Amino acid sequence: MAFSFETTYKELDSKLYSRVTPKRIPNPDILVRNDELRADLGLDAAGLNATILAGQELLEEPIAQAYAGHQYGRFTILGDGRAMILGEHIYEGDRYDIQLKGAGRTPYSRSGDGNATVSSMLREYLYSYAMQKLNSKTSRSLAVIETDEAVTRRRTEPGAVLVRVMNSHIRYGTFQYVANKASDELQRFTDYVIDRHYPALHEKNRTYVEFFDAVMQSSIEMVVDWLRVGFIHGVMNTDNMSIDGETFDYGPCAFMNYYDEETVFSSIDKHGRYAFGNQRPILQWNLERFAEALQPLCTQSALTYDELEGKLDEFEERFDAQYYTMMRKKLGINSDGEEELIEECLEWLRKSNADYTNTFLELETPGTVDDPAFATAAFEQLRNKLAAVGLNEELMQEANPRYIPRNYLVEEALEEYLEAGDLSKFKELLAVLENPYASKSTDSQFQQPPPREFDAKYTTYCNT
Ligand code: AMP
Ligand code: MG
Repeated sequence: MAFSFETTYKELDSKLYSRVTPKRIPNPDILVRNDELRADLGLDAAGLNATILAGQELLEEPIAQAYAGHQYGRFTILGDGRAMILGEHIYEGDRYDIQLKGAGRTPYSRSGDGNATVSSMLREYLYSYAMQKLNSKTSRSLAVIETDEAVTRRRTEPGAVLVRVMNSHIRYGTFQYVANKASDELQRFTDYVIDRHYPALHEKNRTYVEFFDAVMQSSIEMVVDWLRVGFIHGVMNTDNMSIDGETFDYGPCAFMNYYDEETVFSSIDKHGRYAFGNQRPILQWNLERFAEALQPLCTQSALTYDELEGKLDEFEERFDAQYYTMMRKKLGINSDGEEELIEECLEWLRKSNADYTNTFLELETPGTVDDPAFATAAFEQLRNKLAAVGLNEELMQEANPRYIPRNYLVEEALEEYLEAGDLSKFKELLAVLENPYASKSTDSQFQQPPPREFDAKYTTYCNT
């Protein structure tokens, strides 16, 4: 089967999107394709050739979505500047946006060229794959298609298109756009989003405040999961916050190696706004912006702003509850409480600046990782305290990955493709990341953090 499209977004007010056509791509070449995802979408290989995947054979008219967003704190009207939704694919009752990223200019491109580089699309493919295998709710990548053109960013390299799959690409910023540019449509749009992502609310005849509550919950779960695996999103602008709690837009993201809550890899994040440890307060700030976007509903429906504020006031308590539950699993604690002990572990991590991922592997099975940080009295003391209440192996194995995308290995793999046209390192890395919880250490390089000098200088980039 090829895609089976039924695009409900086009039934919404025309201010919310523009009809677009992907750029011409003369010789599209599939570099990688995720056949597991293909099967999950009920698609067969024959129906998914390069021409279809590159948007050169259209089943219906694609759209670019309008949205807004607070970018580094500043409100801006945006929209898909280089992405186009080919359609909403239906399979076994589920609906998926099939989106091309790097498909050319749209009415929202501003000064951008509408293109993407092959290294950045391969990078997004790899990170989204890793996150999905880590059991995080995420956008998924169906394929990367290389194009003939040259795209210039920090260097010149081939262009590429990423085929991205999400439950939808609706974001906090879409609500901000509707509130600003089409506020009469806000109620209809909110009902649409509830139908699409939170239908249980409708069935129970629930209210908009409960919609806000549900979005807050799914976002808290998403960010707590980032903290579990050491993920730093890198650009938590409100236009990159999915309404369904899906991690997406893998731009300057990376995984933290050496534990430091101030870790930032993004070249433009000079003040650490989106640092590892800031992801929680930034989520709270973003939710406040989302609540503001719902404000027109307070005149259009029974919703009151006091109700939204009441929910915002619950943020800290709810985030903490989710966070400590997650940390208890990481530490194999099969009971409630133990927050003090968890804080003690975090304090040890802060002081030792040890590798985050490997610390939990070493706590579970001493001797797994060769690192002087684990040969100290302080670590042994910590482990003994934990042994008294936790270190349940089964819990720990589910919560603590052995393999994450180590930044230096990702860069080596991308470099090998750019320099030699060879994807073997990239594919080898994907194969390791397919089973991130593999219970046996293969004692391989894939478990090693980068040299500290590399990590300290490592920089990632936006809009590449
Ligand atoms: P991002 O940082 O990837 O979330 O992008 C922020 C905004 O810039 C989005 O509206 C993108 O569509 C837009 N954008 C990023 N790169 C380009 C590009 N090369 N051409 C046009 N628009 C772009
Ligand atoms: Mg974005």
